[in-house]
Amino acid sequence: MGTFKAWVVEKGEGGQSLTFRDFDEADLMAGDVTVRVTHSGLNYKDGLALTGRSPVVRRFPMIPGIDFAGVVEASDDPAYEPGDAVVLTGWGVGETHLGAYAERARVKGGWLVPLPAGLSPEQAMAIGTAGYTAMLSVMALEAHGLAPGDGPALVTGASGGVGSVAVTLLARAGWHVIASTGRESEAEYLRGLGAAEILDRAELSIPGKPLGKERWAAAVDSVGSTTLANVLAQTRADGAVAACGLAQGMDLPTSVAPFILRGVSLLGINSVTTPLPKRRAVWDRLASDLDLDKLAAMTTRVPLAEVGALGEAILAGQVRGRTVVAVG
Ligand code: NDP
Repeated sequence: MGTFKAWVVEKGEGGQSLTFRDFDEADLMAGDVTVRVTHSGLNYKDGLALTGRSPVVRRFPMIPGIDFAGVVEASDDPAYEPGDAVVLTGWGVGETHLGAYAERARVKGGWLVPLPAGLSPEQAMAIGTAGYTAMLSVMALEAHGLAPGDGPALVTGASGGVGSVAVTLLARAGWHVIASTGRESEAEYLRGLGAAEILDRAELSIPGKPLGKERWAAAVDSVGSTTLANVLAQTRADGAVAACGLAQGMDLPTSVAPFILRGVSLLGINSVTTPLPKRRAVWDRLASDLDLDKLAAMTTRVPLAEVGALGEAILAGQVRGRTVVAVG
């Protein structure tokens, strides 16, 4: 066993520190599959881990990075053998289990999915946890029975990772997509992904009425807080909102009015512990439905050595679309 390059979060008396250094393979945590990581992604939660802004890291030292694509090097799991291309999102990797911003990872085989046919490892991580969550949200709206004929679909935090993929998926499925963003400068970018209308997020981010004009039948919300309350208040009767994020805040200052007077549903989205059959179904849908040219248009590429500096930027809402981290 040797060493490999990794970003490492440590906790000392002065608080959390982050270094890019050699990591001893013998110090990897228990798992039955060792993976040579080729790509990772940058997600909002990675920003929290890299900066220590919120206590998502719950074991020290920690290698941050919540998702990866790579190639199996060694496996005691009969489902995988050396050379297999695999993808991982969630399961506490980068939070409680040593994560993805490293050249090696050792994990449980049950956490992995085979790289979906039709996607390269780089494309899989351009999608990453954010894109996977966008598809989970779209599938939740569909499972609720909603379809493009029911009315527009709103996406909040539209220029971010979850938002950009959600806009792209919904537009391709035929929805009239309203993209809510705080970045006027990204209006053309969002139209390029398929947005039909741009909404200034300021309209949604300050406290509003318990019920407003019915404006959309469905929504993917990556923002939470007052924004989510306003999204619910302006959802059409029998519509639904997939709540997946908290970029504005963890709180939800709403009333029961949208639920009991309009039959609006709030659908919770958790990407971390999706059971394997559904996880595979989500990736299959991403491989078949996501426009790969649009994925390329929303993706920026950075080398592993540079990802450590991007935590503040993503938390400040300054990162557009998706960032793929080239590890190998
Ligand atoms: P990004 O930072 O890429 O996107 C978030 C976007 O939200 C920003 O680009 C910005 O969009 C908007 N935003 C940022 N700050 C604020 C604010 N104060 N008020 C209103 N809008 C704001 O993050 P991700 O796409 O990676 O993640 C989005 C959210 O989804 C995060 O909260 C993340 O934790 C959550 N998430 C949840 C998952 C789950 O399993 N439930 C999985 C993955 C992500 P714009 O500039 O266009 O307004």
